[in-house]
Amino acid sequence: MKKLDIFVGGKWQQGRGNEMHSRFPGDQHIVATLNSANLEDVEDAVLAADKAWRAPSWRSQPSHQRATILLKVSALIEERIDELTHLQTLDNGKPWAEARGLVMSAAATARYFAAVCEVSGGELPPRRQSDMMTLSTYQPVGVIAAITPWNSPIASDMQKIAPAIAAGNAVILKPAEATPLISLKLAELFEQAGLPAGLLSVLPGKGSIVGDALVRHPLVRKISFTGGTNTGRQLAHIAADKLITTSLELGGKSPTIVLEDADIELAAHGVCYGIFSSMGQACIAGSRLFVAKAIYKPFMERLTALTQQLIIGDPRQERVHIGPLITPAHRESVIRYVTQAINEGGTIRLGGEIPSDPSLQEGNYYQPTIIEGLTNQASVCQEEIFGPVLVVIPFDDEAELIDEANDSIYGLAAGIWTKDYTRAFKLADALDVGTVWINTYKVFSISTPFGGFKESGLGREKGIESLKAYMQQKSIFLALNPQPNRWCE
Ligand code: ADP
Repeated sequence: MKKLDIFVGGKWQQGRGNEMHSRFPGDQHIVATLNSANLEDVEDAVLAADKAWRAPSWRSQPSHQRATILLKVSALIEERIDELTHLQTLDNGKPWAEARGLVMSAAATARYFAAVCEVSGGELPPRRQSDMMTLSTYQPVGVIAAITPWNSPIASDMQKIAPAIAAGNAVILKPAEATPLISLKLAELFEQAGLPAGLLSVLPGKGSIVGDALVRHPLVRKISFTGGTNTGRQLAHIAADKLITTSLELGGKSPTIVLEDADIELAAHGVCYGIFSSMGQACIAGSRLFVAKAIYKPFMERLTALTQQLIIGDPRQERVHIGPLITPAHRESVIRYVTQAINEGGTIRLGGEIPSDPSLQEGNYYQPTIIEGLTNQASVCQEEIFGPVLVVIPFDDEAELIDEANDSIYGLAAGIWTKDYTRAFKLADALDVGTVWINTYKVFSISTPFGGFKESGLGREKGIESLKAYMQQKSIFLALNPQPNRWCE
């Protein structure tokens, strides 16, 4: 099999690091082989990026021309939607329908930031002197290190590349080791859309080698990261030493709350999707479920029945809901959490095993699993499992519920299911999380900011203001009636 090239400073070339593979998690076959980037590739990409964003032809390019590139990328993604969906599914095992949704969202993200960059400008602060005016302007930061995880690569890559390019920066993308393919494909599309060489590089490889060298490079002036909380914390330390800014989208252990007046059908469907879509491999997975005791029995019966209907299988088949987990090692980690839950006194209501279907034995499949009988103190309620495992806790006192829902190092998202919107708003207000979904879950909008409280992150992605996260503000004072300042006379 021919090895894939990587994209370094506008050139397609063999990486100079170790050999690595992209494997299809559905049966572990090798989809592509490539050599990862090494430290020389990092150096070349950063130097090319620094030159490219400073080039007068790029710096003087009006924002509406930068927008044109993003619009072309968006159109190219839409033209090649089937190919990209297939690639995303092969690379990370996400079921076809979900992968397709992500590809469409990447096209929408590129289009959105094209629009934002067309209309985004500086400010004219109020004048405080008649002979002076001031301008508040925004300029690119420079070279951005974008580091992304394996769970939704096309969406997370585009959420970083699009605003960074719209703002006039250069981006070096370090995709997760397990999923390099879609990031390299995106580079191809940006090149085809006319992005000048050097403004985007894609450096697959190990986080601890390629990612680390990239973020420590003195010419890298911002880190935009999505991934685990521990890695995010390490990157924040490096950024603090360099005095550069970060945007960190980290882990979660999101509570979903079903109040006693909830529409059971609506809530059961929403909770099922909220935890089991993407096999729970989502930072926003609704993995801690609090159910009012008054409706616990009928609600759990309906949720269990719906979960039993989920089709586990090859994610390339359109009707499949539950595909494989990303790697055998990750499935092992999920299994360890389930064993720990049992050891701590939990009982398995559903799942808890590797599916027995002989056709699934080569892949990293795991049954959607529901665990009961634990309190919020259990390790599976406190730690992020990142798998198809839901822990359910009954409640009857709302004040205690709020304390328990907030008793987490994380604060990414929460769900509330109730017909009483006044109560829902009060509850939403009391939860220490960055996103609250009321009578819905795990829906997104590129025009609405997203990010975490507490150890779930720093900064916000999406929304008009997110463009400014990739810019630095500069003030310009203009004398309107210049006179010598006779101070020294
Ligand atoms: P996950 O558990 O989702 O894989 P990680 O935080 O380990 O989360 O990985 C997310 C991204 O961060 C990946 O691209 C990974 O290679 C990268 N990464 C991991 N460790 C480091 C590091 N020390 N420095 C820079 N990037 C890293």
